[in-house]
Amino acid sequence: MLPLAHFEYLAPTEAVEASRLLASPDARLVAGGTDLLVSMKHRLFEPRLLVSARRIAEMQGIVPAAGWLSIGASCTLRDVSRHGIVQQRLPALAAACRTVATPTIQAMATLGGNLMLDTRCMYYNQPAGWRASLGYCLKREGSVCHVAPKGRGCYATQAADTVPALWLLGAEAEFVSVSGTRRIRVSDLYREDGMNWLTVRPDEVLTRIHVPLEDRSVAHRKLRTRQAIDYAQVLVAVAAPAQRGEPWSAVVSSVAPRPILVESETAEGLAELSFRGSQPLSTHLASAPWRKKMVRVEVARAVDALLRSHAGSG
Ligand SMILES: Cc1cc2nc3c(=O)[nH]c(=O)nc-3n(C[C@H](O)[C@H](O)[C@H](O)COP(=O)(O)OP(=O)(O)OC[C@H]3O[C@@H](n4cnc5c(N)ncnc54)[C@H](O)[C@@H]3O)c2cc1C
Ligand code: SF4
Repeated sequence: MLPLAHFEYLAPTEAVEASRLLASPDARLVAGGTDLLVSMKHRLFEPRLLVSARRIAEMQGIVPAAGWLSIGASCTLRDVSRHGIVQQRLPALAAACRTVATPTIQAMATLGGNLMLDTRCMYYNQPAGWRASLGYCLKREGSVCHVAPKGRGCYATQAADTVPALWLLGAEAEFVSVSGTRRIRVSDLYREDGMNWLTVRPDEVLTRIHVPLEDRSVAHRKLRTRQAIDYAQVLVAVAAPAQRGEPWSAVVSSVAPRPILVESETAEGLAELSFRGSQPLSTHLASAPWRKKMVRVEVARAVDALLRSHAGSG
């Protein structure tokens, strides 16, 4: 068993107080802890202070308001996937919550923690001894990227299951800090950099996720080795045009530090354009060329599911 290093634990009742505590580089916010505590055991980082989101009331609850559904960042993936409005109006989000890890992890893991999840790479998400045997890597303690030794950056992938669906549903994330409150589109939350993958500061607390209730047809698909526990080899969400003249859209994830948006005038063209636009690297055990081919397959399957559901309802 991997032990945790010693840390202090504080549980403020307001997001702004949490933000004040997070201004220290030695502090981290903990929500469900399903990723954070594993990473701490792997010595990927060793915060001296954990700031819990558990007692912060403004991060709880799921409430409809003026055409949007406002979901507290501390709501568990299980609560989100079982909520009546999510099931009826946002089925792609419910499906994405249900593909994360296992039902027991979904009962602890939060939607906010999923959006803020660290990027992943098979050379990085490993215990300290494993990483030390390779001389570590650029993302922490080392000087070389094992995925692209001649490259200059980190290519660890954005792998959170709910991100592609939330992106295409037009969701916005609300952050609170000592400097105030701001809303950022989920599509603007990620950078093309596996080491510094978020566009927000570490002291900004994600309090709520706002999703428009527009009845947009979105399909979620996840390709993984086993049908439980595993992170995605390829993650895909596809949206049908909301109105005549709009394009078909796909968000492809788990292939780069930032998800990729692809648009096509036709349903038939979307899979090929997604294939051409994705350049997965060797960040996963499965081969990069196979994952690239599977982008085309998964997008085609998602388009097919949407066309069949339209034909069924027409
Ligand atoms: C065996 C296993 C399998 C997994 N498989 C998957 C998978 O298939 N797909 C997947 O997407 N995830 C997977 N996960 C990762 C994790 O369970 C989920 O991503 C989960 O949603 C993270 O939420 P959490 O509340 O547990 O976050 P935590 O672990 O508490 O936090 C994760 C990160 O987000 C930050 N954070 C959390 N909440 C906030 C907030 N409100 N504001 C600002 N920062 C915040 C934390 O500081 C930390 O850096 C897996 C984990 C395990 C252990
Ligand atoms: S992509 Fe390279 S630098 Fe980034 S985690 Fe993987 S091996 Fe490390």
